[in-house]
Amino acid sequence: MTRRVILAGGGHAHLAVLADWACAPLPDTERWLITSSRHTAYSGMLPGWLAGHYRAGDLLIDLAPLAQQAGAQLVIADVVGLDPDRQLLTLSSGEEVAFDLLSLATGGETNTSSLAQLGDRLMPVRPVGTFMERWSAFLDGNAHAPSLNIAVVGGGAAGVELALGAAAAVKHTFTNARISLVSSEQGLLAGHAPAVRERALAELTRRDIAVHFAHAVGTEDSLRLSDGIGLPVDCVIAATGSKAPQWLARSGLTCNEAGFVAVGADLRSTSHSSIFAAGDIINRTDRKLERSGVHAVKAGPVLAANLRATLHGTALSQYQPRSRTLYLLATGDKRAIASWGQFVSAGRWAWALKDWIDRRFVRRYTQAARHDPNMPLPAGKRPAA
Ligand SMILES: Cc1cc2nc3c(=O)[nH]c(=O)nc-3n(C[C@H](O)[C@H](O)[C@H](O)COP(=O)(O)OP(=O)(O)OC[C@H]3O[C@@H](n4cnc5c(N)ncnc54)[C@H](O)[C@@H]3O)c2cc1C
Repeated sequence: MTRRVILAGGGHAHLAVLADWACAPLPDTERWLITSSRHTAYSGMLPGWLAGHYRAGDLLIDLAPLAQQAGAQLVIADVVGLDPDRQLLTLSSGEEVAFDLLSLATGGETNTSSLAQLGDRLMPVRPVGTFMERWSAFLDGNAHAPSLNIAVVGGGAAGVELALGAAAAVKHTFTNARISLVSSEQGLLAGHAPAVRERALAELTRRDIAVHFAHAVGTEDSLRLSDGIGLPVDCVIAATGSKAPQWLARSGLTCNEAGFVAVGADLRSTSHSSIFAAGDIINRTDRKLERSGVHAVKAGPVLAANLRATLHGTALSQYQPRSRTLYLLATGDKRAIASWGQFVSAGRWAWALKDWIDRRFVRRYTQAARHDPNMPLPAGKRPAA
């Protein structure tokens, strides 16, 4: 009997699954990849793109050849509904698609609830492809503007890197540009060591980026901050963290109170055994796990192994992250801050390492496809069962 296996979302977490399928086909299955757009952007390189270090093609991965090599049918559509009991997905096209086994990795959505009034001035960082188009159009459209006020909202790693990237982007072209970064009252880079947070603040200050610790609410043409300050803005980049998509909350799949899919270490839904999930869309019930590309990518091979194990009726593997994760934060000038537990360092070496890691990741999923569409992709390291 042929079983239908569906991957929903073509981002960081599912790339290793496609590679796994390309290496070793899943017998007696019909495989689908349903995703919003044909290209997926490697988000870690977005600040470097903003700063002018990369071309768009350097960070975009074409999913069509990957799906082809994985023997998967590529469907470009949004998942807008899920009925986990009937094992049905509803797509933005209106089509209902049945599955035997489903893996969800559609990522989070940018939380813009307090910024919506900004209208066209608001640029959520996700979807990354849309952000890239809108940012390019914004710079082109303002090429002769006498002044430019850009604010980044969100004091996490993405917000800090994007503020520094934006500062680098406007430095030479716009003599009268002002960049602001608004972080919550808790400060920058929550979860990182104090020395990393200080280093990041020093980098922002060095680049004349005004940093505010306050809650921001968007109006038609400004940001109203909870400390009473009003910032006039031409563009607001929202890097405000992930919220769960509404269709998940309505689905009946067990989620936490914020709407993220409840999974154990084996990445299987705690309520529906035919559904797995990984990346920004999950809430681990067995431990705290921050939403990051590192975890989405490293969970990918485990996800691949567990989809296979479920079909074969064998034991599942677990994704157990290392106790410390290395983060390399781009500072917009071909330098980076390295953050690893309490260790902090910065310099050109950190950028060189980040650039090497990031380019290697994208190359893994683009080069094989470009040279020979029938050549199998290198699978991620298979976890021990
Ligand atoms: C600017 C920026 C920089 C970052 N830098 C880093 C970094 O340096 N290091 C790090 O560890 N993390 C970083 N992150 C976080 C990282 O991007 C995420 O944690 C990671 O992308 C999560 O992977 P994912 O597979 O869950 O989702 P994604 O990679 O976002 O993939 C989701 C996929 O699903 C598709 N999709 C979305 N909605 C639907 C739908 N309804 N139906 C079908 N398809 C859908 C999308 O098109 C996309 O292909 C950064 C994030 C941003 C915004």
